[in-house]
Parts: sequence; structure tokens; C-alpha cells
Amino acid sequence: MQTYRLFIDGEWIDTADYYEVRNPATGEAIATCAVAGESELNAAVEAAQRAFPDWAARSYEERGEILRAVAQGVKARYEEFALVESQQTGRCLRETMAHDVPSTIAVLEYFAGVAPATLGETIPVPGAYLNYTRREPYGVVGAITPWNFPLWLAVIKIAPALAAGNTMVLKPAPTTPLTALMLADVMRQAGAPAGVFNVLTDPTPDVVGDLLTRHPQVQKISFTGSTGVGVRVMQNAATHIAPVSLELGGKSPFIVFADAEFDRALAHALLANYFAQGQMCTAATRIFVEKPLYERFRDAFVQRAQRLQIGDPQDPTTEFATLHKREQLEKTEFYVRTAVEEGAQVLTGGKRITEPPFDKGFYFQPTVLANVQPTMRVACDEIFGPVAMLMPFEGEDEALRLANQTDYGLAAGIWTKDIGKALRLAHQIQAGKVWVNCYNMIPPQAPYGGYKLSGFGRELGLHCLLELYTQVKNVQVDLSPDYFEWFG
Ligand code: NAD
Repeated sequence: MQTYRLFIDGEWIDTADYYEVRNPATGEAIATCAVAGESELNAAVEAAQRAFPDWAARSYEERGEILRAVAQGVKARYEEFALVESQQTGRCLRETMAHDVPSTIAVLEYFAGVAPATLGETIPVPGAYLNYTRREPYGVVGAITPWNFPLWLAVIKIAPALAAGNTMVLKPAPTTPLTALMLADVMRQAGAPAGVFNVLTDPTPDVVGDLLTRHPQVQKISFTGSTGVGVRVMQNAATHIAPVSLELGGKSPFIVFADAEFDRALAHALLANYFAQGQMCTAATRIFVEKPLYERFRDAFVQRAQRLQIGDPQDPTTEFATLHKREQLEKTEFYVRTAVEEGAQVLTGGKRITEPPFDKGFYFQPTVLANVQPTMRVACDEIFGPVAMLMPFEGEDEALRLANQTDYGLAAGIWTKDIGKALRLAHQIQAGKVWVNCYNMIPPQAPYGGYKLSGFGRELGLHCLLELYTQVKNVQVDLSPDYFEWFG
């Protein structure tokens, strides 16, 4: 079992206390991590502040070289990253191998190359002046990440923030800090200067996060997590007017028209609900199917949900594994029970899986509900578990009304061969990401983020370099041989 210390100022730092990180599928301890407190937080922010001037003064190419070396370092430890990600989250190894690690490498490589595109502008102003803008980094970025995709969600903050010349203090989720700590090791070997990247671990969810977001020297806060905590983060940031970007929860619609390509829509609907056991911010739990197709789609969906191979997350053939924690299990159970009390019908699943060896984890059956009304709690709140609900609709207008009947606005899926219809809806749906005839595609080149209670600010793409991790400075230069005398 590995012991991880804090990573501050390029060094591994010991603390008085350590806590255990456990594999959710077995309950076994897989690592111990140092417990950070206020003094370690202050040391990390100071280190990041000291490192900032030199890091910001380096060329984009130099910073890009280091990020490229980090990508190489992750590639060299590909299997180890995938395994540890699976062990700490409880998610299937086949997912972390096929998604988390390659996506992480792709994000690092993209930002290593694209950072020089943070161009300024020259602005025509009246008179003999040169007026231009520069994009400058903020300074120390405080980053906070959740437990579901710990490596990739950290890297979509780290890569653009560092590429733009910022330095960072990262606070991963208490239960899944290991791959961020492995990444710190890779960073050091890749030549990232001391203090540019720091990682603090802490078993309580809010102590270090709270201190980090209130720290006056943290110039920009980048948060991914639940909407409730997002509110708190925004309040903390307001105490020192730090800009914030928030990637929060979701309740995404998945709209299947009768003319959709059936097999593809079905395969993606399953992925959109049961990948990561539904513990995805983009989980499309509200599946709306046009009436003529509804029964066929519903029956096929239920059949396929029943066929998912449930097992040990580290078995490469397992398709569906444990939930991450007990609270998540209880929450999922609560929503299914409440839905049934409100009149919903369980078509399959709906229960914990308690027979050995699953009793050691937090397993819950892949669940499908019917007879769900859009106003029921199960259809309004984010569950973050494997609960899909199928609802029939009639025509484009009703699809749009149902899709937008949510406080969230992270993502949406539209399935139809009629491209005009798809784009009409895509433009009217209140969500930051719309997929037409595909789902959950998050390329590093394209912006990603939410509307409404799903947050604001766009991660990935040039958008995030320009809008999240740089600020605009305007410079005006007098070119005139004359000057203007105001006094006397
Ligand atoms: P969470 O909000 O409980 O925790 C997220 C992070 O915030 C953790 O690191 C936690 O320790 C920290 N935190 C908790 N209280 C804090 C406080 N007062 N101040 C500062 N930090 C604090 O979320 P979670 O349970 O880890 O993750 C699930 C949530 O994340 C879901 O709502 C999901 O939709 C959301 N999420 C969103 C996206 C996205 O891209 N929009 C991606 C993944 C997950």
C-alpha cells in the first residue's frame, strides 16, 4: 500500500496525520494520504505565488514543451494510471483504459500546442495612438475537483491554466486524490519548476477547499462539483473578488425521434446512463422517445440494461460496477423509492445488489423507470446513479418543452435523421453542450460547460484559454510628435 505526501513547491511534504483511501468495490485501503491543514494550504499558495513570475515569463513554447513531456509521462504509466483511477473511483477499468487516460493525454497535448493562439488585438482608436491588448495569466489558480473522473477533470484545468502561464494549487476530492498525486510526480520528472503545480489532500470534503477559495492570493478559482457546493465557492470567491468558473450538476435530456437510427440511439442511451454507473454530470437520465417508437425503444433498452455485465471494476470484462460511496447508494435508493411512491413503475432494477462479493461495495442494479411525470423529484433532481427514466412525447414542440423543463442546463442529446429538426432543437435547448446523433463526445478542441444551475464558464478549447485562464490588458501608446498641455 502506497503512502502519498502532499506535493508543495516541488517537494513531497510530510504531515502529522494521514488518512486511508479505499477501493469502493471491496472496502480495502489502497493508499494513505497526508492530511493538509491551514499551514500547508498557505505554504502551497505561497509556493505557487513565488513560482508565478518566472513561469509566466517563459514562452508558450517552453511551457508547451513541459506539458508535452507530462503527456509522455502519463503515456509511459498508462496502465498504472488506468488501474489506480479504477481502484479509487470504483469505475470499470475498461472505462479508465479507454476513456480517462487517453482523454487526459489528448488534453495535455492539445494545450501544449494551442497556447500560442492566445493572441492579442490591435484596436483602431482616434488620434495618433497604438492601442493593443495582451492576454495575461491571473497568477495562482485554485482548482477543486470531484471524485467521478478525478484525473481527466483535474487535467482539463491544469493543462490550460499552466499553458497560459498561471500556477496552481489543486485540491482533489478526499476519496480520489491518487491520480492527481501521481500526476504531480510526472510533472516533476517532466521539468515543471517547483511551485508551478501543488496538490493538497484532506479527508474532510470542505476544510481545505473552503480555505483555498477564501485565500486572498488565489487569483482565479476553477471548480467542478455539485451545484450546492458551487454556491458556497462563489460566495467565498466574492470575499476577494476572484473570478470563478463553475462546472456543476446536470439532468440532461436525451431525445429520440421516431426516425432516429435505432441501434445507435439505443447504444448511446445505455452509455449515457450506465457509463460510470450513471455518476456523470452529463448523464442523460431523462430519455424522451417519440410515441411511435416508444414501446420498441423501451423494451430494447430494458433488455440491454439487464444484460450489462456486473462485476469487479478491475476485471477488464466488467461493464457495470459499484457506486462510489454509501451516500450515493442511499441517495439512489431514495430517489427510486420516492418515484415509486409518486406513481413511477420500475421496469428493471431498483434494488441494491447485496449477494457476495458485491456486499462489500455499493452496488445498485441498472434501473429503468417508466410512468415518470416531469414534475416528479426523480425527474427534477440530479441523482448521480444508474437510474434511467423513459418518457414518451409527441412532436418537436413537446420534446423541446420537456427537455427545457429542468433547472439544469449542462448537455442534451438529439437523435433524428432530419437535420433541420435536429438543429432547430439544438438552438433552442437551454444547455451548454448539444450532441446530435452522438453523445458524451468531449474533444479537447471544443468548449464544454453549462447553462442555468449547471454553472458558467467554458472549459476546453480556445475559449477556456481566453476566458478562464487569461485576463485582458489594454495598452495605449502615444505615437504623436505633439503633446497635449492641460495645465497652465
Ligand atoms: P461535491 O460538490 O460534493 O465536491 C466537489 C469538490 O468540492 C470536492 O473536492 C470536495 O471536497 C470539494 N468541496 C466540498 N465542500 C467544499 C467547500 N465548502 N468549499 C470548497 N470545496 C468544497 O461533488 P462530488 O460529490 O465530489 O461530485 C459530484 C458532483 O459533481 C455532481 O453534482 C456532478 O454533476 C458534478 N460534476 C460536474 C461536472 C461538470 O463538468 N459539470 C463533472 C463532474 C462532476
